[in-house]
Amino acid sequence: MNKKVIDLRSDTVTLPKPEMMEFIAQARLGDDLLGEDPTVRELERKAANLLGMEEGLLVLSGTMANQVALMTYCDRGQEILLGKDSHLFNLEGAAMAAVAQVQPRPIEVHQGYYDPELMEEQIHTGDIQKAETSLICLENTYNLNKGQVVSVENMKEIKQLAEQYHLPVYMDGARIFNALIELDMRPADLGQYVDGGQFCLTKGLGCPLGSVLVGNKEFITKARLNRQRLGGGMRQAGVIAAPGIYALDHMIDRLSVDHQRAKRLAKGIAEIEGLVINLQEVHTNIISPVINVEHLNTDGLLADLAKKGVKVKKIGKREFRMIVHYQITDEDIDYVLYALRQCFPGSYSFS
Ligand SMILES: *Cc1c(COP(=O)(O)O)cnc(C)c1O
Repeated sequence: MNKKVIDLRSDTVTLPKPEMMEFIAQARLGDDLLGEDPTVRELERKAANLLGMEEGLLVLSGTMANQVALMTYCDRGQEILLGKDSHLFNLEGAAMAAVAQVQPRPIEVHQGYYDPELMEEQIHTGDIQKAETSLICLENTYNLNKGQVVSVENMKEIKQLAEQYHLPVYMDGARIFNALIELDMRPADLGQYVDGGQFCLTKGLGCPLGSVLVGNKEFITKARLNRQRLGGGMRQAGVIAAPGIYALDHMIDRLSVDHQRAKRLAKGIAEIEGLVINLQEVHTNIISPVINVEHLNTDGLLADLAKKGVKVKKIGKREFRMIVHYQITDEDIDYVLYALRQCFPGSYSFS
């Protein structure tokens, strides 16, 4: 009986490593509202340099980063183009309506591919009855239940389209490092394809909180005011920035291990009769298998797995999500596959 709980609900459930906590204890601090926290400045500079941008801005969450970006790039009543399954469209409590006051124009994104033709058809300029398009929002990795990678070529073609219409491109890169590793792309090259972006310190990088918004100097200066308006001004915020610095130095390169483990988990699941998973769809650390037997739904499976010390996230009546992170070991993957096989003993498939 495995006593340890294996938590695959998200890569946000991780606890900071002891080394990360030590880093916090040793951080030099100051009043960040006065621009005097050296650790915050270091993280903001480091993040901007890393991603080929001019400046960075520490914010409290990915949602705050996204909303600050919308408030900064767009005027009230303008429209933004974004993916139908994006976090911005689905999971921010309608903040774009309630806070940033912009209108979404969602488009279908296939396996992380943003079709430029489809996007171009949705760009509005000048018609008085239509909301003017002011921003293109990409997400990479795309779809937090799938973790699909947006290719370099695709980012390039979207950037070209945006330039044609003088639109900025914003990247919600909550898990951008997972994408960059799969793309084998230098992070610093990202600045060529997007005008601004954000990444989460809490997704896979093991930090307790925080996101960093990056972009050019003018954008970050305006964003700083918008962050303040949302109550995001902070004082000795080096306690948040220090784990971020540790994460950029120590937690990025190892993400490929999570991807390998996710792929191994997916392969094992593909062999279980009663579960369906498309291996082509497993790009990074996220997998979403579908239950394909009549006698078990997600609620039932979650209860069975919980008894065996495994937590996964329900995303549909017969669909659940698992995200691999740094606290999941090879042995954990073996155990999860063993537990899943026990939940589907000799089950039949009805498809
Ligand atoms: C998690 C996530 C966010 C929001 O981050 P929070 O820190 O939870 O607010 C935004 N975009 C994407 C793609 C995410 O996965």
